Amino acid sequence: MTKTIVITGGSRGIGRATALLCAKRGWNTVISYVGNKEAAEQTQADCENAGGKCVIERCDVACEQDVISLFASAINGFGTLDGVVNNAGIVASPQPIIDMDIARMQRIFDTNILGAYIVAREAARHMVRSRGGAGGAIVNVSSMAAKLGGPNEYVDYAGSKGAMDAMTIGLSKELGPEGVRVNAVRPGIIETDIHASGGRPNRAADLGPGCPLGRAGKAEEVAESIIWLLDDASSYVTGAFMDVSGGR
Ligand code: NAD
Repeated sequence: MTKTIVITGGSRGIGRATALLCAKRGWNTVISYVGNKEAAEQTQADCENAGGKCVIERCDVACEQDVISLFASAINGFGTLDGVVNNAGIVASPQPIIDMDIARMQRIFDTNILGAYIVAREAARHMVRSRGGAGGAIVNVSSMAAKLGGPNEYVDYAGSKGAMDAMTIGLSKELGPEGVRVNAVRPGIIETDIHASGGRPNRAADLGPGCPLGRAGKAEEVAESIIWLLDDASSYVTGAFMDVSGGR
């Protein structure tokens, strides 16, 4: 069955890899971007070449109205909503807490947890059976930082992902009876642009060899787990966390 999947931050990295795997299955995707429209257009073209219809839309996940419009585009474009990947996320450069300012914490929480909350709420409004929805699957992209804590590096980011994990548990219990499954993946050290945007371009190369599997992961390897959690193959899985971390 063709599914329609909303992916936040879908123009690059883990979001883009997930969109491409969706497209290979013939699924429709609605991907959001914030700054880089060209990257989003490239992902859209690549999805369509891979066999899936794709709509792109500018959306800051921390802006309620942007998120409402994103979901309206999914429904208007494809008529249904089957899955949502709460993927958009940011990190800041490594700092001990004594040097951090409040603005940094607020920026990270606005995107990583307020944004994820607004996206989950809009997903639920469209999916919940008692409101006329057909159920669905939400996959939150958390982080191993939620378990490891990010000491001396980014305790703020780790806190935002810990909050996401708690929300995943709560939403799975609240929305399960309404036919909506809610799960999370926790990537470890994955080769994407997020490390450069956090001021550590070599982070994956530096830390990958220390993982039990001896290397950093690839965005596609995280996307495979996300796809499984979106797919009916995981129809009895909710409130679950999948560590995609090479054993880290
Ligand atoms: P990335 O930087 O390539 O992708 C992040 C995406 O989020 C980008 O497309 C960006 O435009 C988007 N984004 C940022 N702020 C946004 C906002 N306010 N509204 C909408 N979109 C916004 O990095 P990635 O590694 O692909 O990150 C994807 C997710 O994976 C993030 O939630 C990140 O925290 C998580 N993660 C990544 C790693 C890793 O090692 N790469 C590890 C653990 C968790």
